[in-house]
Amino acid sequence: MSKIAFIGLGNMGLPMAKNLVAAGHDVTGFDLSDDAKAALTEAGGAAADAIADAVAQAEIVVSMLPAGKHVESVYLDAAGVLKNAKAGALLIDSSTIDVDTARKVSAAAEAAGFTMVDAPVSGGVGGAAAGTLTFMVGGTAEGFAAAKPMLDIMGQNIFHAGAAGNGQVAKICNNMLLGISMIGTAEAFMLGEKLGLDAQTLFDISSTASGQCWSMTSYCPAPGPVPSSPANNDFAPGFTAAMMLKDLVLAQEASESAAAATPMGARAMQLYTQMAEAGHAELDFSGIVKALNSN
Ligand code: NAD
Repeated sequence: MSKIAFIGLGNMGLPMAKNLVAAGHDVTGFDLSDDAKAALTEAGGAAADAIADAVAQAEIVVSMLPAGKHVESVYLDAAGVLKNAKAGALLIDSSTIDVDTARKVSAAAEAAGFTMVDAPVSGGVGGAAAGTLTFMVGGTAEGFAAAKPMLDIMGQNIFHAGAAGNGQVAKICNNMLLGISMIGTAEAFMLGEKLGLDAQTLFDISSTASGQCWSMTSYCPAPGPVPSSPANNDFAPGFTAAMMLKDLVLAQEASESAAAATPMGARAMQLYTQMAEAGHAELDFSGIVKALNSN
């Protein structure tokens, strides 16, 4: 049994923390929301009034926060993790944040004598509840080995992506590709329909031909061919357009700082911005066809 501090008990963090409790660990949570903390205590965890109290006795600190600025403040502030955690604690940040902040916080943690890994996830709220998340981990081999037993409780596929920040790199590259492939799939089905080709026929052909991709075979943006896809349920999420847009913005920021050319990623970001501005930010990202139709 390990003593774990869990910071950020939102849609993802709470079910992840609950899985650590269910596996027999001693979990103390902290969140700005009292309701979130109450939900953890109901599940058998404990709640702290401040980050310093949550981390004081912890051997492992896990965080699941909205964005880079929250991670920076939670770890680097005077009342934050680095100034108040026990020497030798293992730090795991599972938030999806910008690569530069992940590397900056990780370097500060290392300078303060801690081992830290960035371990963003894919799999969404369903994966968090079921303990089937995919973790993409950046950090040293020792950090990865130390974090893996905890990540195994919260997830199913755990990858070491390389040095600090590389977990975030893997996450944004994957999601940039997903955004682009979803737009391509939605375009193809919309064009087919406008030219008189029904969705099921295009699916039957294309899913066994060279256009085949996950966005089509597992998450088809046209209603019909994949019964479980959000297209059959008025695009109820799933993974919202707002979340896809967040990841596409992170990808473009990283692309700029690396002087990489990612014109399709940039266009995907514009189209998801358009979808959000049209009032569809909380629909599933596969509803991108709505933005295409408004062009
Ligand atoms: P959320 O907004 O539901 O939860 C974030 C929690 O952090 C909130 O409860 C908030 O009160 C808390 N918080 C914010 N600042 C804090 C601080 N200074 N101290 C303590 N707590 C603080 O968000 P979420 O959906 O749980 O997502 C968390 C992270 O996981 C994000 O980086 C997101 O991009 C990523 N992610 C989410 C999903 C998803 O499907 N929701 C999927 C993959 C990755």
